[in-house]
Amino acid sequence: MTGISYVTIPSMRALKVLHQTIADCTLCPRLTIYRRGIAQTKVKRFQEWEYWGRPIPGFGDPNARLYILGLAPAAHGGNRTGRVFTGDRSGDWLYEALFQFGFANQPGATHLNDGLTLHNCYVAAAVRCAPPDNKPTKEEFNTCRPFMLKELQLLKHTTVVVALGKLAFDEYLKACKELGHSLSKPLPKFGHGSVYTTPWGVTLLGSYHPSQQNTFTGRLTRPMFHSIFKQARKLIDI
Ligand code: SF4
Repeated sequence: MTGISYVTIPSMRALKVLHQTIADCTLCPRLTIYRRGIAQTKVKRFQEWEYWGRPIPGFGDPNARLYILGLAPAAHGGNRTGRVFTGDRSGDWLYEALFQFGFANQPGATHLNDGLTLHNCYVAAAVRCAPPDNKPTKEEFNTCRPFMLKELQLLKHTTVVVALGKLAFDEYLKACKELGHSLSKPLPKFGHGSVYTTPWGVTLLGSYHPSQQNTFTGRLTRPMFHSIFKQARKLIDI
């Protein structure tokens, strides 16, 4: 037996069940109405699409050592295509970086059957439904967090977490607390390039979110974004 370990078949089945449970969820009335409404009205450039219009499960390698947490699906990105960070500009940035550092087999993500696979990497969002103005409420974060908890329990090999944005960073810390982990005080602060090693050995890296608000204004540049995944790659290869 080599040093590589694999998730058990029951864990893989449990992840599949979790995906289905997430996709069927209607616990947040505001978000359920919103994502379904968007799927019906659509946007002009995607009128020919049949939108997914449901919550978006996580995506990637069940053996992943890298867990990436975003905020929430985009109304005409994940909510349209049915896969996290797929079909929008943020996803273009994310999967390009993952490809560059060997976590993805291709640099782009356009639709569910585009052939994308992730290696040693799993991508999810703190809130699984597209929210109005990209702003979930506190209650919606709380309602959706149990899905992240379950995911973190099933992804048994996670050693590095990249949180895209402050909200995702704080949500990951809340999830850790709810899983019963004790965190050092004061709690780590989010920043682009912030690094926090948890007492149980997971490294949490903070990154600005590759939203157009950040990338168009130059707040986040490609070299800045890629430096995070370069670091993740180094940590995983140690
Ligand atoms: S945000 Fe999460 S908890 Fe709320 S409806 Fe969507 S999947 Fe369910």
